[in-house]
This record gives sequence, structure tokens and C-alpha cells, in this order.
Amino acid sequence: MLATKPETVPPESVGTPVEDKLYNVRFKTDETASHLVIVNQELCVRCADKPCTYFCPVAVYKWEPGVQRITVGYEKCVECGACRIGCPPHNIAWRYPRGGFGCQYKNG
Ligand code: SF4
Ligand code: SF4
Repeated sequence: MLATKPETVPPESVGTPVEDKLYNVRFKTDETASHLVIVNQELCVRCADKPCTYFCPVAVYKWEPGVQRITVGYEKCVECGACRIGCPPHNIAWRYPRGGFGCQYKNG
């Protein structure tokens, strides 16, 4: 007798758009300083694909061609840590926000 593939029940969250999931995230912005810092903007000018502009799930990094800079919208960072490893020259100084600031997840 042939083995049959076991049926799996996907968790409820599968298929939920990321925007809906982010609805449950609350932010407390540290107005004094960004916890994400571009170390050297000159490296960004020479960075061919600018991967930070697409690997960040909430589009924190934006290339501004007019001023030839990456801007950092740190207020909406969900602290996934991807930019710690995703920037080829490791040009992003990454740390968690100060205690009491940053994002807070509700409902797991
Ligand atoms: S990936 Fe790194 S070096 Fe490239 S543009 Fe983004 S921050 Fe700058
Ligand atoms: S930690 Fe994640 S969410 Fe925050 S800026 Fe880096 S890639 Fe974006």
C-alpha cells in the first residue's frame, strides 16, 4: 500500500497580507536619535543594486537620486535585523532602539 501524504492545516496567518499583520504592530518613536545609521553615504552612491531598498519588509531605506543619499525612515522599523546582514559592504550600523522605544507586537 502506498503511503499517502499527510494532510497539513496551514496556520491562520498564512495568506494574510503583510499590511494586515502590521496592523497589530505599535510604534513608540525615539525622537532623539535613529537606531539605524548609514555609516558612509559615499558607499551607497557606488552601491549598484542598493539592496536595502528592497530587502527591508517595511521600506525603511529609500534612495533619493536628487541628493544622492539613502534616507532612513527608522520610525517604522519592525526590528527584523535583515539590514544587519543584507547590506553588502556592511554599511548600516544596526542596533535595537533604546529601552522602551521601537515596535511592540500584539497578539504574538
Ligand atoms: S545596501 Fe548598504 S551600501 Fe548599498 S545603498 Fe543600501 S545601505 Fe548603502
Ligand atoms: S531591521 Fe528590518 S525592518 Fe528594520 S530597517 Fe532593517 S530590514 Fe528594515
